[in-house]
Amino acid sequence: MGAAKPAVKTLVIRNGTLIDGSGKPASRNDAIVIEGNKIKHVGALPPDVALKDHGTVQVIDAAGQWIMPGLIDAHCHMSYGYPLIKGEGKGKGTTRPELSTLKAARSAQKVLRAGVTGISVPGGTWFTDVGVRDAIRLGLMPGPRMFVAGRMIVTYGCIEDDEPSWEGTPDHSIGKLCNSADEMVTEVRRQGKHGVNFIKMADSRSGESQMIAKEEIAAVVGEAHRRNLRVAIHSRGAGSTRAAAEAGVDWIVHADLATERDLEAVARAGMPILPTATFLATVIELGKKVGPEQVQLDVGRMQRHFDLLCGLMHKARDFGIRLLVGTDTGNNAFTPHGELHAKELEIFVNYGGYSPMEAIVAATRDNALALGLEGQVGELAPGKLADLIVLDRDPLADITVLQGGRHLTWVIKDGRIVDLEPREDMLTFRHAAE
Ligand SMILES: [Zn+2]
Repeated sequence: MGAAKPAVKTLVIRNGTLIDGSGKPASRNDAIVIEGNKIKHVGALPPDVALKDHGTVQVIDAAGQWIMPGLIDAHCHMSYGYPLIKGEGKGKGTTRPELSTLKAARSAQKVLRAGVTGISVPGGTWFTDVGVRDAIRLGLMPGPRMFVAGRMIVTYGCIEDDEPSWEGTPDHSIGKLCNSADEMVTEVRRQGKHGVNFIKMADSRSGESQMIAKEEIAAVVGEAHRRNLRVAIHSRGAGSTRAAAEAGVDWIVHADLATERDLEAVARAGMPILPTATFLATVIELGKKVGPEQVQLDVGRMQRHFDLLCGLMHKARDFGIRLLVGTDTGNNAFTPHGELHAKELEIFVNYGGYSPMEAIVAATRDNALALGLEGQVGELAPGKLADLIVLDRDPLADITVLQGGRHLTWVIKDGRIVDLEPREDMLTFRHAAE
C-alpha cells in the first residue's frame, strides 16, 4: 500500500458536533478548514473558501457526526514480536529484526486505521521503531506519528532483565543492562546516535524494590536532555517514583505504589504520570474468561496493581498531577494493535473519576507531550497539526465508541485523508495472525 499523496487541496469539514480537545463543551461545527498539514480555521466558513471549486477544495460533510482530535496512545509497543504468526520461529518476542520490522510496519497501519494518529513507543527491540517511524515520516507508508525509545536501560534484576547474569541482555531483548551511571550515559549516547526520541529506563517489575539509584537516573536525565532527548521510566515502587521525580524525568510510567509523600514530590517536580491500566484490565478480563492458569500471569497481582492505579487516578487530581493515557498495546499476544487504544479512556471514566470530556482531553491535548508535540497537536484550533477523526456515534455519551475504530467515518492525519478500507493483503495478514 503506497503512501497517501500530498494534500494539494484545501480540506473543509462541515457540520457535525465539534469536540475540540481543549475541554470546552462540544459545539456545533460549521467549518474546519485544513491547508497542507495544518488547521487554518475553525468556525464560520470563511468567505474566501470556494466550496464549489472541486479542483482545489474537498468537502467532508459530517452532519449528524462527531469531530475530535485523533487519539494519541502514549504507551504502545510495536516491535516486541506481536502479533504471533503461525509458522514463525519461537523465542520470547522476536529474534529476527527483519521480520520484526515488517510486522511493526503492518501494525502501524492498523493503529492509524483505528483512529490513533499518534503513538509514543516506550521501548522495543533493536532500532526497529526508529526505522518504522522514519518510513512513515518519509512517506513510504501510512502510519501514526511515532515518538520512540529504544531498549530500556535496566540494572540486574529489573524488569526486562530476563536472562541469567552470564547471558546478560542479548541483542534481541527489550532491556539493555547498564550497571553503572557511566554505562547508562554511554547507552544514552548510543541510542541518541541511532535516532531515538526518548530514553526509557525501567526499575523493578512490580515495585518490589528500588533497583536504580537516583544519581543514576539523574545521570541519564542530564545526558539525555543535553542531547534533546526525553526520559521516561517504568516505576511501580514508591522509592523509585520519588527518585525519578527528584531526578527530573519527563514522565513516570505506572507509579502505582507511590505514597502521598512520593506524589507530592511528583507534583512539585511537575511531570505527568502515565498509569497504563489497560494491560492489567485486559489480563483480569481474560483471567475471568479462560481461567488464570491459561493467562500465565499472576491475575491476583494484576488486580492489585489495577486497583492501585484507579486510586492513583483520583489522587493525581487532588495533587494536581497531569495523567497521560496509554494502553501497553503490543506488549503481549492479547493486546492486539488497533483494538485497545481507547480502552484506557473507558477505565479513566469508569474507575478514575474522569468525565468522558476529561478523558478525551487527556488522550489528545495532554498526550501530545508524549509525542514531543505539546501545543502543536491534540487540539482542533488554527495553527495546530491537522490530526482528527470523525465518528458516527457520540463519544461523550458512550466513551467506548472510540474503541477498535468501529465508529470511525474519517481519519485525517497530517492533513491527509487516511484510507480506512484495508486492501486484500491486509485481510490475508489478519487471517494468518493468531
Ligand atoms: Zn510497556
